[in-house]
Amino acid sequence: MSAQTALGILGGTFDPIHHGHLRLAIEARQRLSLDAIRLIPAGQPPHRARPGTPAAHRLAMTELAAQGLPGLVVDPAEVHSQQTSYTVATLERLRAELGNERPLVLILGADAFLGLPGWHRWREIFALAHIAVATRPGYVLADALNGGDLADECPQRLSQNPQSLHATPSGSIVPFTIPSLEISATLIRHALAQGEDAHFLLPGAVLDYIQSHHLYSR
Ligand code: ATP
Repeated sequence: MSAQTALGILGGTFDPIHHGHLRLAIEARQRLSLDAIRLIPAGQPPHRARPGTPAAHRLAMTELAAQGLPGLVVDPAEVHSQQTSYTVATLERLRAELGNERPLVLILGADAFLGLPGWHRWREIFALAHIAVATRPGYVLADALNGGDLADECPQRLSQNPQSLHATPSGSIVPFTIPSLEISATLIRHALAQGEDAHFLLPGAVLDYIQSHHLYSR
């Protein structure tokens, strides 16, 4: 067992942050006994088109969403960086900040995990952090572990026991189940562009911010 408490990391475009992200963070903290979760909005994510919303707004919405939620801490470093937001580089930065002993747990929804082999230097992530994979409606993990790049890297790392995340600083993959919330930022952007009511898909304070800054409207 590592002497240091495990830190969770939840990166995302957060365009905008919503209850799917927040429930994922809270469930991960509770179920995996993580000390805290760092929410890290991407500056310029590599895997997708530039987010429609400037990084400063996405960061401000993330800060509003995390307010008053114990253990959720916003890390603005990617937004302030001029570099492309590669997860491996973020983990290297956190290792430089926190040292090599503390368990780091990268939290991914199943959709993000299935895309892992497309990420920059993805195999190096396992030397830097554990990965905890949460269920997400519409995405099945078992298929990915039966063939392809994930299948040759993952089976030997897979553990059903969250204690694995505390035994070493990095290297395990732990799936965990969360209540299904079929919410995505895409859905919210579309709803708002249609002038629909998005209450209860995301925090009220974030919705107020969106309205006062005229984000996502046509
Ligand atoms: P978009 O619709 O713009 O692609 P998104 O809602 O999927 O965005 P991201 O910022 O891309 O949100 O996601 C960040 C992380 O949160 C990813 O690991 C993703 O799998 C996870 N995530 C997002 N929404 C959910 C959800 N409803 N349930 C579980 N995980 C989620």
